[in-house]
Amino acid sequence: MARDTEGRNGQHMVRAGNLGLILRAVRRHAPCSRAEVAAATGLTKSTVSSIVAELVDRGLLREAGAAAEGRVGRPGVMLEMDDSSIAAIGLEVNVDYLTIVALDLVEQELFSRHADFDARSAGPEGSVRQMAALLARSLTDPLLAERTVLGIGIAVPGLIDPVTGIVRYAPNLRWRDFRLGELLSAALAEHGLDDVPVFVDNDANLGVVAEHRCGHLAGTPGLIYITGEVGIGAGVLVDGVPLRGSSGYGGEIGHMPVTRGGPRCGCGRQGCLEALAGIAAILRRATPDLLPDGSLPGDAVARAVRVAAERAEAGDAHVLRVLRESGEWLGHGLAILVNLLDPRAVVLGGYFVQLAPWLLPACEAVLRDHIVAPRQDADLVQTSVLGLSAAARGAAATLVNDLDQGRIPVPGRRPSS
Ligand SMILES: [Zn+2]
Repeated sequence: MARDTEGRNGQHMVRAGNLGLILRAVRRHAPCSRAEVAAATGLTKSTVSSIVAELVDRGLLREAGAAAEGRVGRPGVMLEMDDSSIAAIGLEVNVDYLTIVALDLVEQELFSRHADFDARSAGPEGSVRQMAALLARSLTDPLLAERTVLGIGIAVPGLIDPVTGIVRYAPNLRWRDFRLGELLSAALAEHGLDDVPVFVDNDANLGVVAEHRCGHLAGTPGLIYITGEVGIGAGVLVDGVPLRGSSGYGGEIGHMPVTRGGPRCGCGRQGCLEALAGIAAILRRATPDLLPDGSLPGDAVARAVRVAAERAEAGDAHVLRVLRESGEWLGHGLAILVNLLDPRAVVLGGYFVQLAPWLLPACEAVLRDHIVAPRQDADLVQTSVLGLSAAARGAAATLVNDLDQGRIPVPGRRPSS
C-alpha cells in the first residue's frame, strides 16, 4: 500500500508512486469516481483530488460525465483513461527494417510504419541518424502531431544494458558497445525532440511483452516468444514476469549450441541454432540463386522469404527439404526450452510466420520426440499475429506500463507550435 504521507526524503517518489497507483486504479475500475479511486487505493480524498487534477491537466485522465444514480456514495464526476492526448512510441531496428508503432494510453494502435532498411550498410551512427529522422517524421504525422510523446522505446536484436541504453553486442547488426540510447537522444534533440525519455531493450524481451499484452494469447502467464528475423532470440515470460537472467542477457537461444561443428554463426562460433535454423541460414540454403555470393544484404531478406514461401507452395523439392531440415533444428532448440521452462505456448514471430506451414510439421515432430513431460497440447507451438511489429509494439506497451508503475515521469502538455 502506498503511503499517503510524504516523508522527509523522496517526496517526489511518493508522489510518482501515488500517481501510478491512481492510474492503475482508474485503468482497472473506469469509469469510476474520485471517491471510488480513494477507496481502491487507500489514499485520502484530498490526495486523490490533487493528483487527479494534475493527471487530467496533463491529458492522462479525463472526466466522463456524472455518476449514474444509485451508485454507492456521493454522486461525482466519473474518471476514465484519456486516450486522446498521449502517444507511446516503439521503434524496432533490425538487420533489414525499421518498424515504428505508436499506442495510446489504452494501448490501441495509433500509427504503424514499416520501412526497408539496411542496418549493416548504414552502420551504427548512420542507423541512429535514420532512426531519429523516421521518428521525427512520424511524430509530425497528423495521427500523432497533436499528442504528447510519453517516451520512445527501442527494440534491438542483441545484448542490451537497459540501464545505460548501451548495445553490448548485436552480432547480426555488427554493433558492439554502442551507446545507442545516448546517441539517439542527442540525434532527437537535433530534431527538436528534447527531454523525451528513451529506453533500449532486447527485441525478443519486448516481443514477449507484446504477445502477453495484445497478442492472440494475451494474458497467458507462461509464454516463450521466438524472434524469426535474420537471427533467433527468445523472450521468456514465467508467471507473467519476463525472465531476464542475472545481468539481463538471457534468452539467447540463437547461440545455444545444438550440434558439434556445423556452419559458422554470425557470432563466430559453430553449432549455434541460429546458424542452422535462423532466417539467414534458411535463405542461404533455400534460395542461393537470390544471394549469388552468399551474402544477405538487409534489403534482400523480405523478398527472399517471399520467394522461398512461393517455391515451397509450388512444391519445389529443394526448398521443401531445406525448410523441413530447418524445422527439425528449430524443434531441437525449442525442446530444450520447453523441457526447461514448461511454457503454455511457444509463439513464433517475424519471418517464421510466413514459413511456418513448412517449418512447423518437422519442428513439432522433433518436439514430440524430445519433450519429456506428458503434454498432449497440439497447439504448443503457435504463430504470432503481430507480424514484424511485435517488438515495437512491446516497446510502446512497456512505456504505458512504466507510466502506470510510476517508473517514468508523467509528461507535460505538448507545447503548441
Ligand atoms: Zn552464434
